[in-house]
Amino acid sequence: MTVGAGSAGCVLANRLSADPGCSTLLVEAGGRDRNPLLRLPMPMGRLFHAGICNWRYHTESVPAPEGRSLYWPCGKVPGGRSIINGMVYVPDNRHDYNRFRILFASSGLCHPPNS
Ligand SMILES: Cc1cc2nc3c(=O)[nH]c(=O)nc-3n(C[C@H](O)[C@H](O)[C@H](O)COP(=O)(O)OP(=O)(O)OC[C@H]3O[C@@H](n4cnc5c(N)ncnc54)[C@H](O)[C@@H]3O)c2cc1C
Repeated sequence: MTVGAGSAGCVLANRLSADPGCSTLLVEAGGRDRNPLLRLPMPMGRLFHAGICNWRYHTESVPAPEGRSLYWPCGKVPGGRSIINGMVYVPDNRHDYNRFRILFASSGLCHPPNS
C-alpha cells in the first residue's frame, strides 16, 4: 500500500504493480484530477494560491526571512505537488551532469568523471 499519489507515490505504485505477485493499493487524500486548471499553463498563479487541489501549508516561522512563516503550496490531488507548475520544460544538458560529476567526485555521491 502506498499512501499519497504524488510524484514519488505514483512511481512507487507503478513499480510495485509491475510485479504480478503483488497487489497494489495507492491511496490519495485529494479528489480526481479533472479540473481543467490542472491542464493549462496560464492559471498556475491561481493554483498556487487558491484552495483548489492545494493543501496551502505555511511553514513554521523561519529565521532567514526575519522569523516569518512562508506560504508553501502543496498539491492535494493525484500528481501531488508536481501538478502546480508552469509547464516549463528544460531539456537536460549532458555537460551539466559531467560538471556535477567533476564537482562532487570526491563526495562519494557520484561516480568519478570519465577520463
Ligand atoms: C510551485 C512548485 C514548483 C516546483 N518546482 C519544481 C521544479 O521546478 N523542479 C523540481 O524538481 N521540483 C519542483 N517542485 C517540487 C516538486 O514538485 C516536489 O518536490 C515533488 O513533487 C514532491 O513529490 P512527493 O511525492 O515527495 O510529494 P507530493 O508530490 O507532495 O505528494 C504527496 C501526496 O500525498 C498526498 N497525501 C498527503 N497526506 C495524505 C494522507 N494522509 N493520505 C493520503 N494521501 C495523502 C497529497 O495529497 C499528495 O498528493 C515544485 C513544487 C511546487 C509546489
